[in-house]
Amino acid sequence: MRHITQHYINGGFTKSHGTETMDLISPANKSLIGRVTLGDKEDARAAIQAGKEAFAAFSRTSIAERAEFLQRLHDAILAREAEHIAVRTEEYGGVPLHNKFSIQGAAKVFLNMKKTLETYEFSRPVGQARVTMKPVGVAGVITPWNSAIFMVCNKLAPAIAAGCTVVAKPSELSAIQTRILAECIHEASLPAGVINMVNGRGDVVGTELARHPDISKISFTGSTAVGKAVMRGAADTVKRVTLELGGKSPHIVLDDADFDKAAVFALEAAFRNNGQACIAGSRLLVPAHRLEEMKNALLRALPAWKVGNPQEEGTAIGPVVNEKQYSRVQEYIQMGISEGADLLAGGKGYPQGLESGWFVKPTIFVNVDNDMTIAREEIFGPVLCVIAYKTEEDAIRIANDTIYGLQGWVSTSDLSRGRDIAERIEAGAVMVNKTFDLLDEAGIPAGGFKQSGIGREFGSYGLEEYLEPQAVLI
Ligand code: NAD
Repeated sequence: MRHITQHYINGGFTKSHGTETMDLISPANKSLIGRVTLGDKEDARAAIQAGKEAFAAFSRTSIAERAEFLQRLHDAILAREAEHIAVRTEEYGGVPLHNKFSIQGAAKVFLNMKKTLETYEFSRPVGQARVTMKPVGVAGVITPWNSAIFMVCNKLAPAIAAGCTVVAKPSELSAIQTRILAECIHEASLPAGVINMVNGRGDVVGTELARHPDISKISFTGSTAVGKAVMRGAADTVKRVTLELGGKSPHIVLDDADFDKAAVFALEAAFRNNGQACIAGSRLLVPAHRLEEMKNALLRALPAWKVGNPQEEGTAIGPVVNEKQYSRVQEYIQMGISEGADLLAGGKGYPQGLESGWFVKPTIFVNVDNDMTIAREEIFGPVLCVIAYKTEEDAIRIANDTIYGLQGWVSTSDLSRGRDIAERIEAGAVMVNKTFDLLDEAGIPAGGFKQSGIGREFGSYGLEEYLEPQAVLI
């Protein structure tokens, strides 16, 4: 049982001024594993003040110094990799398949950003002017629970590279995980006040960050509904805003695809990270004349997605994060049934023998119409909707008929056809026959079209979210 009672402010762990507490419950067995004391506005303000004071010197550090800080953050996270993974499993329900990817990814974003710094031109002549890219100020970072460490690091890396100081408010559901991250940050020995982290509720600490005049920029990852509230809060002080929001990503299987491979790929895109992934390929678009073949291929691929105890090697889907998320997913499954979609696999209730945790049956709906609620709204659990299309044009129309635009997926045996289709999907990134390796190369941006967000993360695109161009003419 862990008690998290401190925030990380101005280079040290300080007792929370806020006194409200929240229980931390294991999603795998519903037992109490910890308690977090939630910060209040005073805690947020103390962290913002520390960030503001540190900014004066940190904004003037050299590129070499900041590259060194990025390296140290990378090393400090990897030094405790096993512990991060264990706690990710216990507090979040992360499974072996995804834990390593998520934690190593969290470390890697720092090295990738260090690489971006090697070639990024902070100062360049433009006509008669010299244009210098300046750090924007103190950045407020607000993140979700579904890849807690990774999401915070995605934002710390460009902020530090740019010369910004940070106040981070991670999800209150990940307090044990982010406490370890705060300890790693402390180990990395950056100047005091450069990175601060406050536990707290979104409507208290998050709101304070969004509204406070000394925060110049907000980088938010989370749901589209909360993203809109953050943007409204940030409007009064005209903050720069980066939003990484929800998705309902289409996966188009072209008629030339190998359907067994496509089915394996489809379940990976939909069920990875317990189905709690913003980029999940949750709408599978299949040629109508080959629908039966795809159903059979999906049923052949499904046994690999064993749901169970996340501590056990071989478990591919763990529980969803908490009771609220479990109920939400169950409601969507009921909605799918009520709206007339057919269950190919899964359905409501706990999988047999797994009643003790927030486990969901991996669920595949077929005969889904793109107008159904289950095809329009983000479910954020292991639920896949199979939608039949008639022609390629029809597939593209359905794929783009959504308020979201985070990610797209294409399965094909013809890569040039795949590229053409990919370029017609309205989404920030499209994977053709490929899963989850945006981080392999340092410069590839990620982010959303439409209501999936504003701005990008990673590479120079991500870095520039924390910079302002200043033109000096003499
Ligand atoms: P959420 O929107 O409920 O919360 C995200 C963060 O915002 C949390 O830290 C929360 O405390 C805070 N928050 C809540 N209300 C707030 C308010 N009024 N003002 C300021 N902050 C507030 O999201 P979640 O349930 O934690 O995470 C799931 C969502 O995140 C999904 O919609 C998913 O698609 C999205 N997500 C997006 C990406 C991406 O890169 N696009 C990545 C991961 C998750």
